[in-house]
Amino acid sequence: MVAASVLVLAVLVAAAARWSDHGDGDGTASRSPSTTTATEATTTTRAAATTSTTRPTGRFDRASGGTPVVGTGTLYRYAVEVEEGTGVDVDDFARAVDATLDDRRGWTTADGISLQRVSDATAQFTVRLATPATTDLLCAPLTTEGQVSCGHNDSAVINLTRWLDGAAPSKLSVADYRHYVVTHEFGHLIGHRHETCPGPGQRATTMMQQSYDIGACTPNPWPAPDA
Ligand SMILES: [Zn+2]
Repeated sequence: MVAASVLVLAVLVAAAARWSDHGDGDGTASRSPSTTTATEATTTTRAAATTSTTRPTGRFDRASGGTPVVGTGTLYRYAVEVEEGTGVDVDDFARAVDATLDDRRGWTTADGISLQRVSDATAQFTVRLATPATTDLLCAPLTTEGQVSCGHNDSAVINLTRWLDGAAPSKLSVADYRHYVVTHEFGHLIGHRHETCPGPGQRATTMMQQSYDIGACTPNPWPAPDA
């Protein structure tokens, strides 16, 4: 894990321009995502795990099995992994990721692509749930500050803290925030860059950094919300 991060760091010197847009901690040192509101906590079934009882191990379990191909167009295969020590079951996380990526309101409709979860080496991308400390390692040199997630180096790294608590500035329920964060970070892997609020009263876009702010936009996790 450490060796891989060092390698990433070396490669990144040449690729900084490309990757600087692929993480959600980039250039955000002065921004501090808000903590969970009581409203969110009471409207969402919180997972058994809490970040205060987790420990980073750097070891990941991969979900076995897979899903049928969903959608049409270019096929992207992904694997799902959960860090040991998060307290989250890898199959539960995989089901949640599958449900999000297979949803008609997601990238299959918005980009006209097809997606399939696999558990073997044919996976081009990996969606990982990681403790805050490991997220920082995997996302480095992007600055995730133990708070946010990132999508780079062919991995969407979902920060356990955000998975469990969501992010109040997004104005999304934790359930919808989970759809958002998986879709957003996966969006980076398939080439999407950050966007800004298209206008007052309009829906927030998936590629906005909603963990920090949605401005005058209305809450929305999906790239194709009307599908
Ligand atoms: Zn992002």
